[in-house]
Amino acid sequence: MLKLNGLKLLHYKNSQDAQTVDMPVPAVVRIPMVQHMGAPCVPVVKPGEEVLAGQLIGKSEQAFSVPIHSSVSGKVKAIEDYVASSGALVKRVVIETDGQQRWIDGTPRTVSTQQELVDAARDAGIAGLGGAGFPTHIKLAYKDVDRIDALVINAAECEPYITSDYREMLEYPDDIIEGIKTVMKCLNITKAFIGIEDNKPEAIALLNQKVQGTAIRVEALKSIYPQGAEKVLIYNTTGRIIEEGEIPADKGVIVMNVTTVANLHRFLTTGRPLTHKRVTVDGSFVTNPMNVRVPIGTMISDLLEFAGVDCQMVHKALMGGPMMGTALDTLETPIIKNNNAILVLDEAHARIPKTTACIRCGRCIDVCPMNLMPAALEKAYDQQDTERLETLKVNLCINCGSCTYVCPAKRNLAQKNQLAKGLLKRK
Ligand code: SF4
Ligand code: SF4
Repeated sequence: MLKLNGLKLLHYKNSQDAQTVDMPVPAVVRIPMVQHMGAPCVPVVKPGEEVLAGQLIGKSEQAFSVPIHSSVSGKVKAIEDYVASSGALVKRVVIETDGQQRWIDGTPRTVSTQQELVDAARDAGIAGLGGAGFPTHIKLAYKDVDRIDALVINAAECEPYITSDYREMLEYPDDIIEGIKTVMKCLNITKAFIGIEDNKPEAIALLNQKVQGTAIRVEALKSIYPQGAEKVLIYNTTGRIIEEGEIPADKGVIVMNVTTVANLHRFLTTGRPLTHKRVTVDGSFVTNPMNVRVPIGTMISDLLEFAGVDCQMVHKALMGGPMMGTALDTLETPIIKNNNAILVLDEAHARIPKTTACIRCGRCIDVCPMNLMPAALEKAYDQQDTERLETLKVNLCINCGSCTYVCPAKRNLAQKNQLAKGLLKRK
């Protein structure tokens, strides 16, 4: 059973009024062959080859994968290995840009069936853009499609600082609505809900205007973290509970991120696949918070330089929000499809607090949206007790970080749960 209460966070949405700006094409991009959950792509271009923006440069024969396209025009300089922030060794295509940004001739397409929609989502190179990176075409290919009666659009953006989806709603509301209508038509879905936290009244008002006369409803949700977690969002928009081991489709629901659905529409109308991503640049070390449309494969150091950040002085940077983001060990890391924010912190905000003994206050239990017992899970992990970890249902943890955030003893509870899940996988 999910709780309706959660964690009240300060929002720090400093960039919410920052209109998206286009980053000039950098001299070089390094485009990874894995930017999604699933099988890595294999490069289909060779060093020395000329490429256009939007051209296919990587693909996989595996269904559970997403093709990769060039974000720039230029010449392939190398195919190299690098260690991604996940720790995996992956290939990336290095392209020297020619500054002309010549594009492929994109062909718009019309879709009206599930298969046509699935093919389009795959060809568009779209993987969940809210951060999860789940291949969109796999989600849309659910076999028992007659069971699906609700589309839930995740526009909660509940992490502090990040305003990437918010700007999508203000700047491209028609792409969102048309994308939703297309998914509903192809999958024969009768109703859709756009879940938006109520700290975004302008977006709620604008989308409410746009959905007049449609079967799409805008749901203003409490600004409570983690409102954007899939199971929480489904419960708070449809009242349906996704049990352990179930996927949303088992309860008749498909969930899509708001920027994902808009990108799907843009692919259908232009024939241009996903090559750029809007990224919020903010944090205590950033004087001019921005939203930047960035060519995928741009180095974070280039992006930060564009945003006016002195990279030599950066103490700590995160890919993603402060609750669920990943700390970067180097700024020489490329922007990928599911990046929605780069946060740069000053020394005071980056300091790691000292961990002390658990005082059994129970706060971690109170805030857990999945009703888990984080302190007990931590103990079970420390004892490597896999049976107890299963009994305590560690696999239900969505790694929202709420338990760690509230813990007065500053224990790394969420991180231990990640390690515990890995332990169970290896069992
Ligand atoms: S919040 Fe921290 S101190 Fe309190 S019970 Fe949980 S682990 Fe222990
Ligand atoms: S990280 Fe996991 S255990 Fe901690 S509050 Fe979130 S869901 Fe619960």
